[in-house]
Amino acid sequence: MYKYDYVIVGAGLFGATFAHLAHKHGKRCIVIDKRSHSGGNIYCENIEGINVHKYGAHIFHTSDKAVWDFVNSIVPFNRYTNSPIAMAPNGQLYNMPFNMNTFYQMWGVKTPSEAKAKLESQRKEAIAKMAIEGITKPRNLEEQALTLIGKDIYEQLIKGYTEKQWGRKCNELPAFIIRRLPVRMTFDNNYFNDAYQGIPIGGYNKLIDGLLDGIEIKLNTNFFDNRKYWESIADKIVFTGKIDEFYDYRFGKLEYRTVRFEISKYYTPNFQGNAVINYTSADIPFTRTIEHKHFETFGDAVYDNPWTVVSKEFSTEWHEGMEPFYPVNDKRNQETYEKYHRLAEKELNTIFGGRLAEYKYYDMAPIISQVLNYFQ
Ligand code: UDP
Repeated sequence: MYKYDYVIVGAGLFGATFAHLAHKHGKRCIVIDKRSHSGGNIYCENIEGINVHKYGAHIFHTSDKAVWDFVNSIVPFNRYTNSPIAMAPNGQLYNMPFNMNTFYQMWGVKTPSEAKAKLESQRKEAIAKMAIEGITKPRNLEEQALTLIGKDIYEQLIKGYTEKQWGRKCNELPAFIIRRLPVRMTFDNNYFNDAYQGIPIGGYNKLIDGLLDGIEIKLNTNFFDNRKYWESIADKIVFTGKIDEFYDYRFGKLEYRTVRFEISKYYTPNFQGNAVINYTSADIPFTRTIEHKHFETFGDAVYDNPWTVVSKEFSTEWHEGMEPFYPVNDKRNQETYEKYHRLAEKELNTIFGGRLAEYKYYDMAPIISQVLNYFQ
């Protein structure tokens, strides 16, 4: 008889949710994490009373009521709605995602039919250009963007941002990345189409601490330093780390993107007037600036705290010793991942989950949903 039913490797959202539900089902769990804190990349650090998203902005959004009810049963969420502003190469500010406000700012069009006509003419141009080369279906992000939204928006709001974020040319990136972004014919600046959206009241650490309440956890503990031991004490391993590392990189290393942050504290209550500003010009080295207090304070409450904290995000290639954030789902990496995945499918005693173990650009809600389904 093993000491534990599950050794859960990684105290991020997948690991913490898994531990929570397994514990509720009477399973014996231990969570280990190599970092000095739990929460993975949703961990926040409190600076001057502000929850700073240490590993990049996280905004919870879902249309799945079961997921929303579940996270709210751990900690109530606020009504934050993400509405980023983009600073474009032409020096203008635009509303995101692409909606009637953006089209008005870009072209002066005032009605959905005017906007549709403008978009249609730009899309037709792109489709015609591709047709000359015999291309009928967008093969990459650039072609996808041009046929979806046209040249003006692609050049002002997509190209520079995407190439900075991924460190690769738009014509070398998969089309699906851009399909995450809505295109709307209404004056609606809500970045997400989902029914529910918000931030845990009191910050993400409340969510993680709530999920891990009553569960044994060992921090500063690297699974790979003592792999045999961890495998010997549990019936099953729940692995949320990098799948290529799990298999000792036998098919080669997978690539990841990460973000370097420059965090500044200012003695001013309202620095940029919005939580998220995207810098879509290739000439500005950072992709976004985040003013963290706007995630949790609204209206004049922003002025209650004389301080603010702003982080600049510099997207960079991942190297050993950094925290990997985004899988690079280009063709080459995807093919390498498939090889690891075929091995993973054969594992009887290991469950793989989360962005790193599944090498997938997951949002938070699908992670919760996946774990809820597992225990149903
Ligand atoms: N994107 C863009 N311009 C923007 C914001 C996003 O072109 O101002 C593109 C970019 O390619 C990015 C993708 O949309 O990789 C998805 O953006 P999202 O905001 O969903 O990325 P995340 O929040 O996960 O970093």
